[in-house]
Amino acid sequence: MQEHQIDIPSQLKLWAETLGVEESHIVASSGEFLYKQWREDLENSKYGYPLQPVAQSAYLEDSLGKIIGNFEYKKRTPAIFLTHDVDYLNPTYILWLKKAIGRKKFSLDCFKDNFLDSLKRYLEVDKNFLKDSGGQLFIPAPRPPRGFKKYLIHKLIDPSYNLNSTLGDAFYKIVMDYRAEVGIHGSFFSLENDGNFKLEKRTLEQRFGRKITFNRQHWLNINSYQDLIAMHESGINFDSSLGWNGTLGIRGGFLRPYPILLDKLKVIWEIPMLLMDGVLFDELKLSPEKALAIACDWLQKVAMVGGCVAINWHERTFARSYGWGETYERILEWCKKEGFDFYSRQDIEQRIKEHEGKYISKTN
Ligand SMILES: [Zn+2]
Repeated sequence: MQEHQIDIPSQLKLWAETLGVEESHIVASSGEFLYKQWREDLENSKYGYPLQPVAQSAYLEDSLGKIIGNFEYKKRTPAIFLTHDVDYLNPTYILWLKKAIGRKKFSLDCFKDNFLDSLKRYLEVDKNFLKDSGGQLFIPAPRPPRGFKKYLIHKLIDPSYNLNSTLGDAFYKIVMDYRAEVGIHGSFFSLENDGNFKLEKRTLEQRFGRKITFNRQHWLNINSYQDLIAMHESGINFDSSLGWNGTLGIRGGFLRPYPILLDKLKVIWEIPMLLMDGVLFDELKLSPEKALAIACDWLQKVAMVGGCVAINWHERTFARSYGWGETYERILEWCKKEGFDFYSRQDIEQRIKEHEGKYISKTN
């Protein structure tokens, strides 16, 4: 694929504005280095998994501080964006198989779970922390990709429920009852050249009767400018896919929403995804106590820099066979004690307009 050329000084200028610092702070010698690191984090990944060990503590404010010395930037009230990827509406054999392989657990317990009840519990928690609107859902409307091999992979790992079914109707009602926000959860191959992202987005917009501008790619499967451009061309202005699978760390080095320059006049806003239930519990195999402690350690960094990140607990994991919901609640309670704000989609847009994007909204 052709390498995407970007005007690096212009990108760095936007990042400087996002931090509320003089352009010279970032553009001077350190800039190219920071950009290179960010770009490596974007591209050196496969299915959201880093190809190299992640430099766990590297984040922009810290790196700049080390390079520049006494470095001051605008700190806002720290905030978290409450999000849930909705991969399943009920237990399926494919899910069981994935769990059995991934967690080496062969119990059939998950078939007793009610995933919609679990989702309701999450939205109930979100309602207690958010101001007016509901939590943010990323909802798939997958279409099969072309090619036999891709089709098989799609069958195995993409969400498979039908929004136009009895279950789909029950789900729709929950979204409406809780006034949840709808973003798209693009399917695994949807952003590739012949992918279906645009069609998937249209299906979702028709089903929920609203324009969709937020995306998180299923499996965090983003690793190129091309992916970001495809998204933007389909009408997405905000993405929250840049986080890691399999490990903890700050993908891209940002702890606040930031613009990614795609073209002279086009940017997509990234809301970094810092914490995800599956990573803590499935992949790192942490106990609830340990998961809480580690999550709060990471969020402490967000508080320190006055940042704003997304956290992602999946729709089904409040159910008994997972049992990860209490940790979510406790994380939010901790955040409240630490003075965090809690964000839905509209709060994120508002924040960007008032703070991070104040000077650059004209580019969007
Ligand atoms: Zn997903």
